[in-house]
Amino acid sequence: SGFANLNLHPSLLRALIEAGYNTPTPIQAQAIPEVLAGHDLMASAQTGTGKTAAFTLPALNLLATPHPLNSRGPRILVLVPTRELAAQVNEAARKYGKFIRARTVSIVGGMPYPLQNKLLSQPLDILVATPGRLLDHMERGRIDMTRLQMLILDEADRMLDMGFMPDVERICNALPATRQTLLFSATLDGNIGRIAHQILRNPKTIQV
Ligand code: AMP
Repeated sequence: SGFANLNLHPSLLRALIEAGYNTPTPIQAQAIPEVLAGHDLMASAQTGTGKTAAFTLPALNLLATPHPLNSRGPRILVLVPTRELAAQVNEAARKYGKFIRARTVSIVGGMPYPLQNKLLSQPLDILVATPGRLLDHMERGRIDMTRLQMLILDEADRMLDMGFMPDVERICNALPATRQTLLFSATLDGNIGRIAHQILRNPKTIQV
């Protein structure tokens, strides 16, 4: 029942021990094996269920294998609706990715461009971003997405409510089609279901 059975890299298990986590939450127990097996995923989960680690851990697991391409761009992109959530996901990725030496950067609206340009000019593994500002940098040619292996949409229902879906779709269209995509949302019905159908490929569905 512990994390040790989930096939995560030892560097990640070490970070979980340091964080004091013993047992995966239900969403983690269900999501982690599906993501490690390479499936796209559609998961309904509220905040407080451990959803951040449910996507961050299997995403970080990708970094245990070096990427064949030598570019600087991110291998994992996490789209979030708000700056606050970006800060939380970035902190979680740093905490769990400490021993796997994950390089994480957060790019959100309302922050100065010169600093973000500098962050984006350095090699990175994980980019956590709000859609509007990310698209802005992409359109200015500041981010190389050729290494992108995984796209995660966190709180997709809030991104929809806040009017970010046109930007999200433009971002998706500019990413490699071979990527793995994970969508987390409080609800999976109606418009979210339609968007998921466009963005995900044969997704596994998880409800907790
Ligand atoms: P989240 O739903 O991702 O916002 O996580 C809620 C809180 O649960 C966060 O403070 C995490 O640090 C914590 N947490 C996540 N997974 C576990 C776990 N397996 N064991 C103990 N705490 C956890």
